[in-house]
Amino acid sequence: MIEVKDLKKAYNGREALKGISFGIKAGEFYGLLGPNGAGKTTTISILSSILNPDSGEVIIGSNSLKNSPKDIKKIIGVVPQELAVYNELTAFENLMFWGSFYNVSKKELSNRANALLKLFGLEDRKGEKVKNYSGGMKRRINIASSLLHQPRVLFMDEPTVGIDPQSRNLIFEVIEKLHREGMTIVYTTHYMEEAERLCDRIGIIDNGKIIAEGTLDELKNSNAVKETIAMTFLMLSKNDSVKLSSSWPDMKQMNNTIHFYSPNVKTDLSKLVLLCNQIGLEIVNIEILKANLETIFLQLTGKQLRD
Ligand code: ATP
Repeated sequence: MIEVKDLKKAYNGREALKGISFGIKAGEFYGLLGPNGAGKTTTISILSSILNPDSGEVIIGSNSLKNSPKDIKKIIGVVPQELAVYNELTAFENLMFWGSFYNVSKKELSNRANALLKLFGLEDRKGEKVKNYSGGMKRRINIASSLLHQPRVLFMDEPTVGIDPQSRNLIFEVIEKLHREGMTIVYTTHYMEEAERLCDRIGIIDNGKIIAEGTLDELKNSNAVKETIAMTFLMLSKNDSVKLSSSWPDMKQMNNTIHFYSPNVKTDLSKLVLLCNQIGLEIVNIEILKANLETIFLQLTGKQLRD
């Protein structure tokens, strides 16, 4: 459904995308997961035809974005990071306004707007000016307005940032329903829980590049990823960590806690405890962390997703 080939984009000579490629099948829920500044918004803005790349190619359906942007715009819905709602209009008027850009009769548009207001739990307050809405309710209107022309593909750029848990859950339920009904969804986030819950496949993006890609299970089982033994020490000098890393190079220190990456926790745990005893370190806590997107990201980049 979507083919992205070697996308590059620089802002004032600074490379934001350094050659991004991925493919998304029809009906797939694809997540682009990465920290702030990784290049998610730049990627999704290019796919949504809001921004031109410096080079590379995007095919959506059977059309190339470069040659047939109008055909592509008909089949895509876009939920940008910034809210686009008119505060002085009611929820219903907002939807009718945004829907007027599409070739849909007023009656049909009104039916669709009412159905979407119901879907997003806003039926009761549809006649109220949007300025009285919470951030989460405005976000629901924002998403609803991207669905009025019944797109086959939906691009969503961090749609749950800064909203209340109730709106967040409702948004998840709605997009899960759209996904079940066959919509192709591309979703950017820096919350690993969202990527784990929603996405069929995930591209992990960092510093303008996709550094790993696959289903959650594929990412967890990939060779690079092992379980983590997290040990917290009463005190940890620089000299202690040098000694530890010379015996166990595959580790990462965060203050008094060290994450030791291990292919086999059962045997490695006792080896590590022995090593710490030999160095004279007092262990105050040990946790075994199963591979998840956070630990995968940490191991791939040496950084936490939410630095
Ligand atoms: P965030 O979650 O903060 O939106 P992101 O992963 O979406 O991050 P982008 O917004 O695509 O990342 O930014 C990628 C890089 O490009 C960052 O270094 C950012 O500072 C830079 N950048 C993005 N937009 C512009 C712009 N309009 N002008 C200059 N630099 C930009």
